[in-house]
Amino acid sequence: MSEKREEAVVANKKVVLKHYITGFPKESDMEVLTTGTVRLKVAEGSPAVLVKNLYLSCDPYMRKRMSKHEEPSFVSDFTPGEVLTGFGVAKVVDSNHPNFKEGDYVWGPTGWEEYSLITSPENLFKIKYTDVPPSYYTGLLGMPGFTAYIGFFEICKPKKGEYVFISAASGAVGQLVGQYAKLMGCYVVGSAGSDEKVSLLKNKFGFDDAFNYKQETDLNAALKRRFPDGIDIYFENVGGAMLDAVLLNMRIHGRIAACGMISQYNLEKPEGVHNLMFVVSKRIRIEGFIVFDHYHKYSEFVEFTVPRVKDGRITYVEDVVEGLENAPAALVGLFYGLNVGKQLVAVAHE
Ligand code: NAP
Repeated sequence: MSEKREEAVVANKKVVLKHYITGFPKESDMEVLTTGTVRLKVAEGSPAVLVKNLYLSCDPYMRKRMSKHEEPSFVSDFTPGEVLTGFGVAKVVDSNHPNFKEGDYVWGPTGWEEYSLITSPENLFKIKYTDVPPSYYTGLLGMPGFTAYIGFFEICKPKKGEYVFISAASGAVGQLVGQYAKLMGCYVVGSAGSDEKVSLLKNKFGFDDAFNYKQETDLNAALKRRFPDGIDIYFENVGGAMLDAVLLNMRIHGRIAACGMISQYNLEKPEGVHNLMFVVSKRIRIEGFIVFDHYHKYSEFVEFTVPRVKDGRITYVEDVVEGLENAPAALVGLFYGLNVGKQLVAVAHE
């Protein structure tokens, strides 16, 4: 790096949380600040890594971080006035850390800003395959894709020919779960919130069937029509009324991977589940999981998935918005189903 570059101080636009929230998030709960600056050099002796953010990931779990919690959780609350943090894809600008050097592409926790100083680079992954779109490391080959892999293969333990149902099926996680299930020789049905998404499930991702849950007045009947013999595996992304209807349709010894319950994230009082007794009578195994506990399997996931992406057996749909100023709206949109595929924000193009 040249002397001039080492001393460069540049503008650093960022997105901050204005205040803790209740209910549905709004764009106005966040603010895009253009006043910040950053020195493009890591301080002497610091093991931090300075990155230029290229793509930021909008993820449902970020909603939890926008409220104040008394109980400790798997993620910490954001601090009002501070930059939002989440997953992203970035290029290393400067590093004293032995694992990273200028020019490396990385994905992992970063800030919702143009440049971030990553002080805990042990959670950053160096990108091995650069011959796929780098944005894939926010979704398909990043945290959500890895969630699909762990949730489906490790938690659901699928067998060929089993009946699989996936909710929020066209999203970042669901679209990949469905394709893994097809690769395993399962019968796969997904639910999603628009006809456009249903069409994607059937015509792009190869689901055997799909339905728009917003147009079904009776979810139990909708599932019975698609699964007359019942469901072996439910990949749970939404919770609430859908979970209740699924419990009525599970087969004996069925498995439910509890990945997320987005229908509950903005409610002051969770809806509750009424059909839990079927867990007993049908001997159902429900297992929750958090992807962060499985990072030791990340390279196994990448080596399994990348060849299938390259030869076209796995495809992926992204919903890209341009510019940090549009990031708050993109995040809020997740909770209204506005995203079609993996929602991400392009911060900079190379
Ligand atoms: P996503 O599906 O790309 O986006 C969220 C989608 O959820 C929306 O597009 C919308 O799709 C649906 N949705 C929103 N509000 C809903 C409601 N009230 N009822 C039903 N559906 C609703 O998100 P993702 O990243 O793939 O995440 C899917 C789930 O996995 C979330 O629950 C998330 O929290 C969870 N997750 C868990 C882990 C883990 O480690 N356990 C990791 C990553 C993600 P529709 O238009 O289809 O309604």
